Amino acid sequence: MRRAAVALAVLLASPSAPAATPVDDARLVQAGDTALRIEIDGVADPARRAMLMDWAEEAARATVLPSGRFPLTSARVRIAEIDSRDPSPVPWGQTRRDDDVAVLLFVRREADRAALRADWTAVHEFAHLAHPFLGDRGRWLAEGLASYQQNVLRARAGLTTPEDAWRKLDAGFRRGEANGAGTTLERLGRRSTMRVYWAGAAYWREMDLRLRRDHHGSLQAVLDGYARCCLDGTAHVAPEDFVAALDRVAGTDLFARRYRDYAAATTFPSLADGDAALGIARDGDGLRFSDDPAAAALRAAIMGGDVAPVSARARRSPR
Ligand SMILES: [Zn+2]
Repeated sequence: MRRAAVALAVLLASPSAPAATPVDDARLVQAGDTALRIEIDGVADPARRAMLMDWAEEAARATVLPSGRFPLTSARVRIAEIDSRDPSPVPWGQTRRDDDVAVLLFVRREADRAALRADWTAVHEFAHLAHPFLGDRGRWLAEGLASYQQNVLRARAGLTTPEDAWRKLDAGFRRGEANGAGTTLERLGRRSTMRVYWAGAAYWREMDLRLRRDHHGSLQAVLDGYARCCLDGTAHVAPEDFVAALDRVAGTDLFARRYRDYAAATTFPSLADGDAALGIARDGDGLRFSDDPAAAALRAAIMGGDVAPVSARARRSPR
């Protein structure tokens, strides 16, 4: 979900936001044996409806798993337009899990395709389709996964550059570091501090790096395996059971072991080892990228697709 404070502001500003308006049009987007049904509410202009569908379809296709399917067999996407004080092109997104799973996206009336394409919200919400409902204790896992994936998947799909994705990920980490220390991550629950989102994202980055370094794997491949064996989008799964299932898919004890460390932590996790492996260093408000071949290959493998030789990464990645 996009931040609750934003959602509340949008709801107050937008009496037409809830899902009671009739469906005007729909498109079925298929990937392998899975499909997303995209519905547009209350938009009369056919060209605008088509543009919104194209935008949502492009964002959805960014979340196709390595096996060529979406995480869930079927899910719905509903798009409505709103007026909002929030300047974002997509002031509010939410993933609902009732009888089925539905992603709701609320778009500013004047937002054009370029502005929508540059926004992260749709890919963030679609990334939530790869995990079950994890409750308040697992909220940092859920929001962390979507926050990591919103950057990785957008870069892999060409919706942003790899460099921009690394910078945005690091900017999120900085917001998390500045916010909410003193309470365990697990107990922060539904409080929408930046630490919930970005300490969670740090967990998933660490999992991705360790899978690539030690197991010739990747987070995308593990999520793909989990989707095929185990994922039920409307099930309520304890976070411990979710990470144990990921370990079974990966053939590791990594997810559960580090889950316990992160859940109990009262401060933001250290990024030093991961940054060193990736060859990234903070430089003012931005990042510098090393030209070390192993680090560059690791960055390319994560943000650009799995093109780098595993042996180079395994040999040179520190930690
Ligand atoms: Zn979210």
